[in-house]
Amino acid sequence: MTRVTRTVVVKSVRLPRKVFRVLVELEGMYRNMVEQLTMYAVRNNVRSFTRLKALKYREVRNLYPQLPSHYVYTACQDASTRAKSFLRLKKLGIAVRDYPEVRRVSLWIDDHLWKPNGLTSIRIATHEGMVTVELDPHKQYWKYVNSGWRLTSEAKIKLDRRNRQLMIYLTFIKEVEECKPKGYLPVDLNENNVTILLDGVAYLFETNQERLVLGYYYRRRRIQERYDRHYGVKSRIKRKVLKRLKEKRKKNDIRWKIANIIVRTAYEEQQAIVLEKLGKKLANNMIKKVENKQLRHRIFQASFRGIQRAIEEKAREYGVPIIYVDPKNTSKLCPIHKTPINYTNSSRIGRCSKGGELWHRDVVACWNLLLKALRGDGSDAPSPAERNPVDVRLVPLASKATHDPIGISKSLWTRWNPLETTINLYKNNWNDYL
Ligand SMILES: [Zn+2]
Repeated sequence: MTRVTRTVVVKSVRLPRKVFRVLVELEGMYRNMVEQLTMYAVRNNVRSFTRLKALKYREVRNLYPQLPSHYVYTACQDASTRAKSFLRLKKLGIAVRDYPEVRRVSLWIDDHLWKPNGLTSIRIATHEGMVTVELDPHKQYWKYVNSGWRLTSEAKIKLDRRNRQLMIYLTFIKEVEECKPKGYLPVDLNENNVTILLDGVAYLFETNQERLVLGYYYRRRRIQERYDRHYGVKSRIKRKVLKRLKEKRKKNDIRWKIANIIVRTAYEEQQAIVLEKLGKKLANNMIKKVENKQLRHRIFQASFRGIQRAIEEKAREYGVPIIYVDPKNTSKLCPIHKTPINYTNSSRIGRCSKGGELWHRDVVACWNLLLKALRGDGSDAPSPAERNPVDVRLVPLASKATHDPIGISKSLWTRWNPLETTINLYKNNWNDYL
């Protein structure tokens, strides 16, 4: 059993002025406490929360008798975390200032300071008594509520003054039983697709990351240049325009969707996911438009890592094990003959130098990932060789046909929505929202 933790941010509805004023006051007092405590902790080299609390609780409590006492506890926790990270930076010699600056504050609240009030509102303890805050829940929130996740009592609150809303950081946990895999699901990540090999059949999910990533790169750069010229480097208007691109959200959307499809497939088929150990694989020369080679590389590494991380996180949630194998030569050698495959020009189809059969590059990579996993290369997972002997017969030997993947276009797979059923449950209640 492993415990998986997720933070989900839920906004409140726009709050009445009176309620919001109370919360602003509360935040002010909390901020003062955190500032004082952090200063004290840094000055006296106090790193532990318990010690900070033992030393300062009485004093701070007396300063704010009107506050529920647990705010002093959580402020101590908050401050000791800040002090600890500051002291670490200082020790490394990379702290910019002599003392930490408490700039952004979110209220840390524990089980004494807030309670869920049904599923769509919470109650928060303040210096003026309990305050009820209505939530504006989203799909993701309902997903957690309805799929075996448990809401914990640890939460954080941030104030959005402009919209008079709260951002509530809720923590969900789930106990997951790691599943015992019966086979392997190799996953090959590329600039423009993600290919998996399921029971000997390769499926290629188009992602068009290249266009997405580069498109955003150029658009962002154009905006930056234009606005920097007119408004200076730090203009608010530039930030606003960049935000409107929704770059992060769109990239994340794709990552999570593909991760979801892969991990659920592995879970249902009871297979372990096989991934390349990242780091060595260079972005290939398909992206000639970005002049700077290193930059190009960095951009793509970032997008690979993003997909990989999403898969890892989802896998943890489902208890699906991941096996990492050495990426060396995964798309270069024929899985049957172990001889080089010749790719002409920038074609993704190559011919085996021994058998003469045609291979799709990403299919080759998947087969090699599978074979490496079966041999137990580059992972400490036990080799299931007895059950699944390494055997070329595993690889389909239709040597005349290309070993082609089944292509699935982005417009198709992004519409697959495993959440559909969950949402339908709530459609009646949440018509306005959905
Ligand atoms: Zn071959």
